[in-house]
Amino acid sequence: MSLSARDQEVIWHPYTQMKTAAPPIPIVRGEGALLFTETGEAYIDAVSSWWVNLHGHAHPYIAQKVAEQLRTLEHVIFAGFTHPAAVELAERLLQVLPKGQTKIFYSDNGSTAVEVALKMAIQFWHNHGIPKTRIIAFRNSYHGDTFGAMSISGRSTFTAPFQAYLFEVDFIDVPVPGHEQETLAQLEALLQQNDKAAFIYEPLVLGTAGMVMYSPEILDKLVALCRQHQVLTIADEVMTGFGRTGKIFASHYLSHTPDMVCLSKGLTGGTMALGVTSCSDQLYKAFLHDDKSKTFFHGHSYTANPVACAAGLASLDLLLQEQTQQRMARIGDMHRLFAKQIQNLPHVKEVRQQGTILALEFEAETTSYFNNLRDLLYNYALRQGLILRPLGNIIYCIPPYCITDEQLEQVYKTMEGMRLLVGSSQRG
Ligand SMILES: *Cc1c(COP(=O)(O)O)cnc(C)c1O
Repeated sequence: MSLSARDQEVIWHPYTQMKTAAPPIPIVRGEGALLFTETGEAYIDAVSSWWVNLHGHAHPYIAQKVAEQLRTLEHVIFAGFTHPAAVELAERLLQVLPKGQTKIFYSDNGSTAVEVALKMAIQFWHNHGIPKTRIIAFRNSYHGDTFGAMSISGRSTFTAPFQAYLFEVDFIDVPVPGHEQETLAQLEALLQQNDKAAFIYEPLVLGTAGMVMYSPEILDKLVALCRQHQVLTIADEVMTGFGRTGKIFASHYLSHTPDMVCLSKGLTGGTMALGVTSCSDQLYKAFLHDDKSKTFFHGHSYTANPVACAAGLASLDLLLQEQTQQRMARIGDMHRLFAKQIQNLPHVKEVRQQGTILALEFEAETTSYFNNLRDLLYNYALRQGLILRPLGNIIYCIPPYCITDEQLEQVYKTMEGMRLLVGSSQRG
């Protein structure tokens, strides 16, 4: 029996309608930006395997560091104990994170990093005896799939079955170009009520919403306004972190700094799951007390897993190399050039670009994830030897930084082919 047939006997895949989905494509090996099937066919991983991979697949340096760690210490309980990889990774993250972050709390993935931030923010006010409990978030944001993260994310078909169990949130519109003043006014109105605990946001780029982008200037104003009204700010950099937007963190484009930052995805270079929630001293101090009830009672069995931390350290080494920084800048330049070429052509509604992220929105009747166009475009890309996962009529490229110029050209060529496909599908 083939691997995909065996898979279908025993496995339930994420975000997949198992009744109608095509059999999964078995991948047996990866190298650089390429993924290989059993029979040696190659796919360019233009989405970095769901936005996690930074330096290419099966990177020898990360593999070596992970192997060394595995032979030394694979795991240890993280309450009452510590280990070198966790301490070193925390020290090094604090050196590159926005100013004012002083403590690192480890967890397992992006959703848990967000849950931790929410619980910290809510308990911060609880510990101070101040009744601030409500969260402000962007209307179409995505912060993860656990209940807290779902609550603060855009409500959609995905969250509909759970609606009754999601807590109430104050949503504001994303301040896309031309609509900044509306968002500012919405936030100002909300801040008049003194019950807001925190504002959580995906800085500059809302990933799952369709790589929706907005300016650092307006975000800076929103963050400043929250600060002024003593509302905590949480930058969810799970997707934008580690260079995606052109700087190590999207928050570096702002002059005001957040109280908390959530990290995952690129944190280990895409090697394994690890989550981080960093926080300011002011936040941390609210939990220091002789009264034990003020403790932050949260933890996961694999908190600060040494192997994951070792992958994080190795990935950070690679990220900070001059060569990688130049490569990231080069990807941004190439994206900008292609964006200029395609933005005024028929069937292209909008092209958005920020650092190494490029998004192309096609004209279509609806922008739903369930748009038929999505499957058409997805399958077209596969036939061209590319993994590009459209979000409805939006196609994006968020590549590993090691992607070659030739591979990027192939991505652009496929996007151009998609444009023509959109045209012919709409005529037909
Ligand atoms: C992917 C993502 C998450 C959730 O991370 P998981 O590791 O998939 O749980 C949270 N926030 C943002 C902005 C994301 O892109």
